[in-house]
Amino acid sequence: MDIIQLLSDSIANQIAAGEVVQRPASVVKELMENAIDAHAKHIQLIIKEAGKTLIQVIDDGSGMSNTDARMCFERHATSKIRESGDLFAIKTMGFRGEALASIAAVAQVELKTKCAEDELATSIRIEGSEFKSQDFVQGPTGTNFIVKNLFFNVPARRNFLKSNPVEMKHIIEEFQRVALAHPEIKFSLYHNDIEIYNLPESKLSKRIIDTLDKNYRDQLATCQEDTPLIKISGYVGKPQLAAKRRGDQYFFVNHRFIKSSYLNHAVTSAFEATIAQGTHPFYVIFMEIDPSHIDINIHPTKTEIKFDDEKAIYAILRSAVKQAIGVYNLTPTIDFESDINFGNITPPPALKSTKFDFNTSSSISNFESRPKFEKDPLQTDNRDNWQKVFEGLPNRRDHETEDSENQQVIFGSKANKLAETSRLPIDGKEINAIQIHQRYILTQVKSGIMLIDQLYAHERIFYEKYLKEINTQPGVSQQLLFPKTVTLSPIDYEVSFEIIDMIRMIGFNVEEFGQNTYLINGVPIEYMDEDEAVAFKGIIEQYRINENQKDTKEALSKTLAKRAANKSQKTLNKEEISNLINKLFETSMPSINPEGKSTMKILDLSQIGALISN
Ligand code: ADP
Ligand code: MG
Repeated sequence: MDIIQLLSDSIANQIAAGEVVQRPASVVKELMENAIDAHAKHIQLIIKEAGKTLIQVIDDGSGMSNTDARMCFERHATSKIRESGDLFAIKTMGFRGEALASIAAVAQVELKTKCAEDELATSIRIEGSEFKSQDFVQGPTGTNFIVKNLFFNVPARRNFLKSNPVEMKHIIEEFQRVALAHPEIKFSLYHNDIEIYNLPESKLSKRIIDTLDKNYRDQLATCQEDTPLIKISGYVGKPQLAAKRRGDQYFFVNHRFIKSSYLNHAVTSAFEATIAQGTHPFYVIFMEIDPSHIDINIHPTKTEIKFDDEKAIYAILRSAVKQAIGVYNLTPTIDFESDINFGNITPPPALKSTKFDFNTSSSISNFESRPKFEKDPLQTDNRDNWQKVFEGLPNRRDHETEDSENQQVIFGSKANKLAETSRLPIDGKEINAIQIHQRYILTQVKSGIMLIDQLYAHERIFYEKYLKEINTQPGVSQQLLFPKTVTLSPIDYEVSFEIIDMIRMIGFNVEEFGQNTYLINGVPIEYMDEDEAVAFKGIIEQYRINENQKDTKEALSKTLAKRAANKSQKTLNKEEISNLINKLFETSMPSINPEGKSTMKILDLSQIGALISN
């Protein structure tokens, strides 16, 4: 019996949309790039509800004919390449012809467009790949794209969207990248009718301070290098601008924003000792290279590219940056009105007041909330003991160490315990406890009070979680929007083979990517809010410090636990405190951290009395 059928276009488009349209910001990126490719001089972005209800891009570019307006929603429909050879000479942002088909598959789309030759504009409505109408209307040359109710027909995806601040942060990031890449184009951005950006056409230096932070004004050093292989231009921040948080770092290759840990390494290493360890230099660097030397086709969202001569580019870039920071002292502050390409060093006129005061680096970073402590239980074996503690520890002495000074409570191994969930009266209940100085938890137990060291308790919890994941039960991996490459030193790369399978087990979705490099596709949830490549590197480096331990699984779990616990040193709400205590007592050894340090101490009433009256 034959059972194979071709998928309908609308299903095929919806599947493709899964890759192209991850969130509102992906739509913003595709529509803005299309406007750039249409040679627009002015691009307006209008957003409502962080793009969940409306994403509108209006451009004054070439526009489309009546037929093209219909055609552009077909899959694999593009005006940008015709034959396979064109793939090696791509000068446009788009070329796959997938974006509009994908967007129209998962949203309600209205397109109004007119090209210069035509009298009338075309207006098309399409919803979930279904054409609703096509009319001739009055309108200016250019294109007006309205995307409403993204994922209206894919509730699972819609529910998966993050809070408005988080989605808006992603949109602003995309907007900033496009705006930085094209200072010659006028851009504006409105969110819920409020103007967020209004960027006039300007020089790159002015575009940088308008877009990112006006405090960068006196901090930029010109970076420039011309070689037959590659032309480099742009700005690096003077060393004192380097920040703890990895913030504004931009590479553009042929005006396309890309991410590259390899090239980032070239820049950072050029700064050498001029910046403190663990700080990150600011840069906006443009590279112009013959498209035949790069492959932008390796990733659907196109933020990773491959150079055919990566090493040469590394060297050229590094030397360009070195020169830039070497001479910045001699160069007067950049003239924001002059063209960067002339390397003009005339003394600066007073900076024209920048209209826009949106201090992105501080306000946006606060948007994203940290991931909540995971709720799924680890193991239930120790809950009986837990209750005993809170009822006054009747059996405590059975398990106690001889060191009564220390009052350390060692609980029996999980093998001795019955995991009877029905006997877990504490489950889900809030525990009366307070947090002290983001480090200790104080709670009442029947015999007196218990003090818990938050850091060590987290270390114990994470340690057992990772150990369990490595041994039996793979951890959950959170897919990254843009996979990241991480290049290790040759030694670290070697070492990584010892533990890479285990790292995968805890939720890092990584693949080998040649030349000491891994491609990170996903990370464990605890690692979502940090730079994935840095975290991955940090794990390998830290593991090498613990390397001579006999049991690799234990060593790695300790490493991971320490990192995760460190990040948990923060103010906890009531629920998180309860969670912490619950989870601690679910571990096999709640009273000590993985290195044997006490996680808690119980003071009974007589001890408290003695403490006070002494
Ligand atoms: P791609 O950009 O990869 O070609 P898209 O699906 O994004 O694929 O767009 C399909 C085609 O629609 C483009 O090749 C272009 O010809 C046309 N198009 C899309 N957006 C615009 C626009 N803003 N102005 C003019 N033409 C556009
Ligand atoms: Mg496109």
